[in-house]
Amino acid sequence: MEMLTPNVYTETKIRGCNPSIVFTTEGSVFIDTAQWLTTLLEMREFAKKRGPIKYLINTEGHIDHIFGNHWFAGESLVIGHEKLKDIFWTVADEKPCYEYSVDVLERQDPKGLPLMPSEEDYIVNYPQITFSENLTLKLGDTEFFLYHTPGHSDAQICVHVPKERVAFTGDTLFSGCQTWLHSADIKELLKTLDFLEGLEDVDYFVPGHGPVVSRDYIPKQRAFIYEWIAAVAQGVEKGWSLDECIARISFADRFPMDIGQEETMGYVQRTNVTKCYQYLTKK
Ligand SMILES: [Zn+2]
Repeated sequence: MEMLTPNVYTETKIRGCNPSIVFTTEGSVFIDTAQWLTTLLEMREFAKKRGPIKYLINTEGHIDHIFGNHWFAGESLVIGHEKLKDIFWTVADEKPCYEYSVDVLERQDPKGLPLMPSEEDYIVNYPQITFSENLTLKLGDTEFFLYHTPGHSDAQICVHVPKERVAFTGDTLFSGCQTWLHSADIKELLKTLDFLEGLEDVDYFVPGHGPVVSRDYIPKQRAFIYEWIAAVAQGVEKGWSLDECIARISFADRFPMDIGQEETMGYVQRTNVTKCYQYLTKK
């Protein structure tokens, strides 16, 4: 775990999202829950030593951000965007989510396997508090500003904590690893990047995946998305079909996949081309 401020901790070196903790004078707020169960449970215990975990915020509904919600059920209130329910606990890479998670544990976190409940006992812990545009949460001495920041997914949000000068962007930002556009609305994503760039009182941007970055990373993320669009636009101009674009365009050599997700490189390249193609051709 990495300490960003005496009240903010994040873990960027495990598979899946970067789960994080913000401490206040009245307990803590947890942001996103990871798939490596042993690390998640260690973080949960670490947080509880300083008081109750009052809230759990999900920045999106993809499995790598919500899988561990089970372990907060009945203890912390879950907060997310109102559209989160639409994709919460749906299929992941064409595998049912429970099966997908067990497979991850078997291969990458075997010590977590015995901690996994049976499928019947697993609690799909949906948000109890939802919002559409913005939500302000006050806990003890700390204010949390939650913004709807669609693009990577419909239900995407950003959590800004000005007191700690930190913004948790979820998968609007990927640093040092491949950018997933598989469920993206590219037009919205570009608007959201502008929004984040204009957010004041932030020193640390905690991305969905990869190391913590500063504001100067946002133009780089934007530029990479434009590179994807430009490469596909050249294909479209040459009259290539979507399948031809998929066969010929790849940025696989640019960044590795995030930790533990090496096998998804082909999927990401294919779906990124598809999203850019749809964006350009409206097909
Ligand atoms: Zn993610």
